[in-house]
Amino acid sequence: MIDCAIIGGGPAGLTAGLYATRGGLKNVVLFEKGMPGGQITQSSEIENYPGFFDHTKSGMDFMDGWQKQCFHFGLKHQMDEVLSVSKSDDNFTLAIRGKDPIVAKTVIVCTGSTPKRVEIKGEDEFFGRGVSTCATCDGFFYKDKEVAVIGGGDTALEEAYYLSNICSKVYLIHRRDTFRAAPSTVERVKKKENIQLILDTRPKEILGDTMGASGLLLEDKNGTTSTLNVPGVFIFVGHNVNNSVLKDKNNNFICEVNEQGQVVVNLKMETSIDGLFAAGDMRIDAPKQVVSAAGDGAIAALGAIAYIQEQA
Ligand code: FAD
Ligand code: NAP
Repeated sequence: MIDCAIIGGGPAGLTAGLYATRGGLKNVVLFEKGMPGGQITQSSEIENYPGFFDHTKSGMDFMDGWQKQCFHFGLKHQMDEVLSVSKSDDNFTLAIRGKDPIVAKTVIVCTGSTPKRVEIKGEDEFFGRGVSTCATCDGFFYKDKEVAVIGGGDTALEEAYYLSNICSKVYLIHRRDTFRAAPSTVERVKKKENIQLILDTRPKEILGDTMGASGLLLEDKNGTTSTLNVPGVFIFVGHNVNNSVLKDKNNNFICEVNEQGQVVVNLKMETSIDGLFAAGDMRIDAPKQVVSAAGDGAIAALGAIAYIQEQA
């Protein structure tokens, strides 16, 4: 049996691992289905993490040191996908894809969120062939070409700006005429000569052929349609909470969640189940920031240490 299982290796999970190991837990395992780092590794920049201010560094560069630090203090990493968590008696059982279950005294769930789709015709067909949710990963393919970005939040505007430094032109398509993104980011985007805002307009279909995407069918608020000829379409319309590990066989959540599927926690990151903690983007009222996800992870790990001490 392990002391503490951490599910998800983004900023919340890695910080939980750091605090749990440095806090004296002997057997702490981080289950991460991919490479540790989380969503921020898809970002072209990060400028709001205190003490880190370097525009030449990407989200991937930023997270690199986090893993090294955690593993130095004894955090073990298993590159596995956790399918579900259940509690019987005082222990938790983790079902792991393709492997035997693992039993843990306490669990910290930090599975974050994944990019949403706009759910229009052509989106699935051309995903990876002109349609992308990662500018850092795919932006370079459109060097000196025109691309479209869909969305009006921080991600869409920041990534539109990033793409504008690679691509000849960026069309930013947003369904309203005001943005969710931070005012300073909106101003920066508005000042960029090769970003054209197309507001009050929705994407209707991604067009293309056997070679991949070639354009976007748009509809404005008056119902007028138009076509934008672009080989690349970047979609940044928010994220879904990755909460499936908290569902039982009957598809019911094992702990309390809200209507959006975010996990209900208190200020100690405790869920409604003793010994089960949730941290980062997946919890209620998450500001969805690296700094807050890291803070949550630290709080959850301290709670896990206290929980194990109380049980002993
Ligand atoms: P995540 O980062 O989502 O990590 C969750 C991890 O869990 C993932 O690695 C995933 O693979 C893993 N996982 C999920 N399910 C399972 C499972 N069943 N088994 C095993 N592993 C699993 N925030 C800022 O503060 N500043 C920024 O500039 C900024 N820019 C951003 C730019 C982009 C493009 C994006 C997408 C986000 C940005 N954010 C930014 C938000 C920030 O990245 C998130 O708030 C933060 O990463 C959340 O951390 P987390 O640990 O809660 O979850
Ligand atoms: P978000 O804030 O939820 O914004 C999603 C955007 O997509 C909204 O503008 C929304 O339009 C639009 N949208 C949603 N569904 C759509 C659809 N079907 N068709 C067309 N448009 C659609 O998501 P996000 O930008 O990914 O940000 C997520 C969180 O991470 C936020 O809390 C954000 O602050 C944070 N974040 C922070 C930073 C930073 O601090 N630098 C960077 C990136 C992300 P409406 O506005 O009309 O709803």
